[in-house]
Amino acid sequence: MDSIKITRETHSKNKTIGGMNLNLRCVVCGKTYGNDVLYTCPACGPEGILDVCYDYEQIQKKFRPEIVAKRPQDIGRYQELLPINGTHQLPPTKIGWTPIFDAAKLASALSVAHLFVKDEGRNPTASFKDRASAVGVAKAQELGFTDIACASTGNAASSLAGAAAAVGLRSTIFVPESAPEPKVMQLLIFGARVVRVKKPATEITAYEAAYDLCTQACERYGWYNRNCAINAYLVEGKKTCGLEIAEQMQTDMPDWVVVSVGDGCTIAGVGKGFAEMQRLGWIAQQPKLLGVQAEGAAPIAKTFFAGGELVPARGDSIAESIAVSKPRNWRKAIHAIRESNGTMIVVTDEEILQAQQLAARLGGVFGEPAGVAGIAGLKKAVAAGVVPSSASVLVVVTGSGLKDISAVRRTLMMPNAIEGEMKALERFLH
Ligand SMILES: *Cc1c(COP(=O)(O)O)cnc(C)c1O
Repeated sequence: MDSIKITRETHSKNKTIGGMNLNLRCVVCGKTYGNDVLYTCPACGPEGILDVCYDYEQIQKKFRPEIVAKRPQDIGRYQELLPINGTHQLPPTKIGWTPIFDAAKLASALSVAHLFVKDEGRNPTASFKDRASAVGVAKAQELGFTDIACASTGNAASSLAGAAAAVGLRSTIFVPESAPEPKVMQLLIFGARVVRVKKPATEITAYEAAYDLCTQACERYGWYNRNCAINAYLVEGKKTCGLEIAEQMQTDMPDWVVVSVGDGCTIAGVGKGFAEMQRLGWIAQQPKLLGVQAEGAAPIAKTFFAGGELVPARGDSIAESIAVSKPRNWRKAIHAIRESNGTMIVVTDEEILQAQQLAARLGGVFGEPAGVAGIAGLKKAVAAGVVPSSASVLVVVTGSGLKDISAVRRTLMMPNAIEGEMKALERFLH
């Protein structure tokens, strides 16, 4: 295992990497560290998720709209607000700068004055997660790692496999044995090594077993761990969505921004992006955040309203990408929502499936269930008077429905075939 030692030594030599002015602050105890801590707070353990803090006064000097406007249209344009040394180690596959469009028909169906959709399905592997994986692989290379790993069945895994392939890192992905074949194929096509983990005889789920095995393997073999739950840098990638909305909408910022919530990193990242853009003078005010969870997996929403520590919930929903029973980034998520004066809402699977059709038929955007949960949440929030009808709202559609059509199969049926004759067509149409 000599190669492992080499990876580790390379890493420790690079400890005080670069001239980046950033600190890591624990969200539990508030203690700050330099950038020599790899994952969570050494004092608080796994609960002690770190937050990256920058020197904004320094950044403000260079980070101006007229300068940024001339840069390439991907997440690298926000280089001063990313925890990496330059943009050369980001994947060249154009991650970010996804379009925002005015969805007027959808707005009237939801009874809201203005509705904008930001379509994250336009990223290289068709979800929001590409933003985090991009920063993950850049950071891994900077720190001297040759391998990167994660445990996931879904978008985190495919985005990591794609980003690692694009920069030439080896990726190992731990998935529960039950992960559906199309999802596993998405990983294999990028050359990822896929480890399928069986459900243990104990209480824990196959996913948790895969997660634990991934953590152990990263320690044992010296791989970089791409897991938002412990890796503070990944949220910085997710933050670029908030930075982008602020840049793209600048003078026309929406009153509300709606994001679906699983682990909580996405909404925390988007909120952090708005807070930074306000601090840097790009926008006057932060939009309110509406966080949407699925009924079968709503522990963050529960804690948001009840207060106290998070109690793990069931984790089942048709919206697999947000069906998280033990979310790790709930503190950051709740903090971001409160700071924005926003709130949360819970939707049923039925409402999510309806929203999926609504978004496709009235908005022309096909999102996966977790991707359109925000639309279901907005509909409910407007009906409940939580979001006023006069509001201007932006919904982030977080992932494309084309990746896995199994949810669609639940609501729609394959039409019967007909003879290729007008008579048969007439019968079919009537
Ligand atoms: C991961 C994911 C989310 C939620 O992000 P969290 O950071 O887990 O809250 C939402 N939608 C899609 C499509 C995702 O893949």
